[in-house]
Amino acid sequence: MSQKYSQFLEKLHTISDVEKSIAVLDWDRETYMPMAGNAGRTAQVSTLSSIAHELFTSNELGDLLGAAEQEQAGADYDSTQASMLRNVRRSYDEKRRFSSEFVKRSSSITGAAGAAWAKSRQDNDFPSFQPHLEAAVALGQESAEIYGYTDEKYDALLDQHERGMKTADVRRIFAALKSETVPLVKAIGEKLDAVDNRMLKQDFPVEAQRTMCHYAAESVGYDFKRGHLGEVHHPFSTSFGRNDVRITTRFAPEFAVSSIFAVLHESGHAMYEQGIAENLDRTPLGQGTSSGIHESQSRLIENQVGRSLGYWQVHFPELVRHFPKQLTGVTAEQFYRAINKVEPSFIRVEADELTYNMHIMVRFELEQQLISGELRAADLPQAWRAKMQELLGVTPKTDAQGVLQDVHWSLAAFGYFPTYTLGNLYSAQFVAAAKSQDSLIEADLAKGDSTRLLAWLHHNVHRHGSKYDPAQLCERATGSTLTAQPFVDYVREKYGALYAL
Ligand code: ZN
Repeated sequence: MSQKYSQFLEKLHTISDVEKSIAVLDWDRETYMPMAGNAGRTAQVSTLSSIAHELFTSNELGDLLGAAEQEQAGADYDSTQASMLRNVRRSYDEKRRFSSEFVKRSSSITGAAGAAWAKSRQDNDFPSFQPHLEAAVALGQESAEIYGYTDEKYDALLDQHERGMKTADVRRIFAALKSETVPLVKAIGEKLDAVDNRMLKQDFPVEAQRTMCHYAAESVGYDFKRGHLGEVHHPFSTSFGRNDVRITTRFAPEFAVSSIFAVLHESGHAMYEQGIAENLDRTPLGQGTSSGIHESQSRLIENQVGRSLGYWQVHFPELVRHFPKQLTGVTAEQFYRAINKVEPSFIRVEADELTYNMHIMVRFELEQQLISGELRAADLPQAWRAKMQELLGVTPKTDAQGVLQDVHWSLAAFGYFPTYTLGNLYSAQFVAAAKSQDSLIEADLAKGDSTRLLAWLHHNVHRHGSKYDPAQLCERATGSTLTAQPFVDYVREKYGALYAL
C-alpha cells in the first residue's frame, strides 16, 4: 500500500470510529438508557454527528482523496483501493452539495414532524400532522433538487437509498409483480379458511420466548461470540464493526412467533454485517451496500429459510419443548401452514409475505405523487383508502390504521419504502441463483440446514460490503439484473401448494 492512500485510509478510520460511537449511543438509547437520559443523549449524538459530517466534508479529506486518486490511478476496478476511492468520491461530492444550513434545518423540521406524527397517530388526528407533512414533502423536494437528477425528481430520493436504481426501473419491476401477485391474493381470498392459525394466538410465556429466540438466531448462523440479543419496542440490528453486530427483538406474550421472526429477520441483517471482509472494517465499505440489499438478507433468513417447511420439520420439536401446553398435538406441517397464512390487512409490519408488497406499492405510488406535486397532503388520507381498496381490497376505518401508521414520511425519508419490496425480490433471485449454482443447497434447505446457502451468500454478497452498487452486486451474483420473476415463481409454488390453487 502506498503513502497517500494510507493517509487517506487513516482519516477514514477516524471518521468511522466517530460514526460507530454514535451507533453505540443510539443502541444504548433504545435498550438500557433511562428515559431521563434522553435530552443528554440527544445532545451527545448531535455533537458527534456534526463532528462526523465536518470531518467527512472537510477540505482536508478532499485533498487526501484527490492525492490518493492520483497515486492509485491504475488500480484494478475490483481492488479494495479502487472501490474505496470510487465510493468515497461519490459520497464526498454528494454530501458537499448539502450546506450545513440545510442539514440543520432539515433535522429541526423532521424532529418536529416526528413528534407531531407520534401524537397524531395516537390521537388518530391527521389534520394536526398535515402541516408537518407538507413541510417534510417540501424538504424532500428541495433535497432532490440539491442532490440532482436527470429524469424525474423522485430518482434523486430513491438513489439515496438504492444507488443507481431509477424510478422507471422500480415502476417496471413492480408492475410485473402486481400483475402476477394481485390475482394470486384474490384466489387465496376465496379460500381464507384453508389455513388455520389460531394456535399462534395464545399466551406464550416470555421467558421461554427469550430462550427460543436465542436458539433461532443460532440455528441460522448468527454468531453470538460477535453479537448480542437485546430487548426493545421496535426491533432493529446495528453494527459497531464486523466483530460486534447486535440484534434486538420485542416480546408479545399473546403472539410468540412475532418475536422469533423478528429475531430471524434481524439475524439476516446482522450476518450480512458480520460477514464483511476484515480489511473493509472501519471504512465506508465496511457496511451493507444499500437498503434493498440489506433487506434482501433479512427477508431471506426470515421467509425463505424461517418460513419454510424444511426448517420447521427440524426445529419444531424444540419449539414444542418450550411451549408444551400451547403446542402439544400440533404437527410441524400445521405450524408451517399457520405461519404462512395469507390475509389482506391494514398494517404493513404485520402483513404476510405475499400481501406485504402491496402495502409497499400503495406507499410507492402515493409518495411519487406527493413529490411530483400531483397529490396534496390534504388529499392523502382519501387517496390512501382508495389505493388500499384497489390493491388489497380492504379500507382502513381510521387514519391511525391507514396513512398514519409509518414513521418514514415524517422523517422526510421519501424513496425508502420501495427498498423493502426490492429486498424481497432480491432475496428470491439470490436463492434461485444459489440453488442453480450449487445443487446441494436445495436438498440441505429441505433438511432445515442453511449452512451451505449462508456460505454462498457470504461469498457472493456479504464479504463485498459496499464495494459494488446493488445492481452490480446482483448481476455478479445471479447473472442478471433484478426482475420480479424469481419471486413470482417462489410464491406461486409455495402458496399454490399451501392453498391447493
Ligand atoms: Zn429489515
